[in-house]
Amino acid sequence: MMSNANNTQIIEHQRSLSQLIQLERMPHAFIVTGVTGTGKLALSRWLISVLACEQCVMGSKVSQLPNEHHDILYPCGQCKSCQLLSGQAHPDHLIVDHIGNNIGVDQIRKLTSFFEKTALLGKRQTAIIESAEKMTESAANALLKTLEEPNAYSHIILLTTEIERLIPTIISRCRHIALRATKQTLKGNANGDTATTFAGFASEENSVDAVQYNEFTTLFYQFIAEPSSRSKILTFMQAQPLSLSWCELAIVDLMRFNNNWLNVSPDTVIEEQALARLRQLTQDDIWQLHTLISACKKQILTLTQANKDFQIEKLLSEFRCFLIEVYEKNR
Ligand SMILES: [Zn+2]
Repeated sequence: MMSNANNTQIIEHQRSLSQLIQLERMPHAFIVTGVTGTGKLALSRWLISVLACEQCVMGSKVSQLPNEHHDILYPCGQCKSCQLLSGQAHPDHLIVDHIGNNIGVDQIRKLTSFFEKTALLGKRQTAIIESAEKMTESAANALLKTLEEPNAYSHIILLTTEIERLIPTIISRCRHIALRATKQTLKGNANGDTATTFAGFASEENSVDAVQYNEFTTLFYQFIAEPSSRSKILTFMQAQPLSLSWCELAIVDLMRFNNNWLNVSPDTVIEEQALARLRQLTQDDIWQLHTLISACKKQILTLTQANKDFQIEKLLSEFRCFLIEVYEKNR
């Protein structure tokens, strides 16, 4: 059973996916997005376990499950498939993860030939691609071919924190499940969850991304503290393809910082006076900013590059209006 089973957002997705499975209308490919700690892997593992199980049970038949789980499918935990899966030895399930900093074309070719064979146990074959944004260009193109010609019982789940790095032709062939960071998930994962924080980037401090991310956070937090001057952050964000994901990370870090949930601090990148202003922002203020970013990301996924520049400009204007009002109130 899932560790964050009381997360209403995940339950909603489990419910609609359970319906699709029962109607035999499961899409062949999914992209699950969300910052670290939102439950991407947990949701995907549940889905794989239900697809693999030979005799799934409805939540209503499982004793002591709360009402909201009653129309969700669960694996039986007893059948051969369930046992092989829990031992990570299921012949019809493949996990692809990055080797070094990449997912290479050879790994995707292996996945392609895996799907070309028929299933050994049941009829379904499943695969999870973790950190899908790390696919090289040729790996992504190879995956595209597999997505274009799915066999009837194949299901692929791509997990990513940075959907902007995936090519649009892949995105368009997948059902998108966007998991929003909730106060609960962030707090619950605060310990040890450093992949999306300064600490996470700092550990790879030689990478170009880490250097750029530091530059970004400096400009971004300065802008949050002084929202009337936005020209520097605007130029930076329009030029950097990952800027919206970074925006989301920086906001999530700010929330953790203001709540002392995680030992991260923007004080290494901005001056004390600006930091004092950031401290004024309440949890709800920060969530409001997060909501604006999510809405902007959603827009951009469906628009072209020309519009992306405009959307970022619009986002920063919305930030400015909102923040100026907040700081006025606190004066
Ligand atoms: Zn089973």
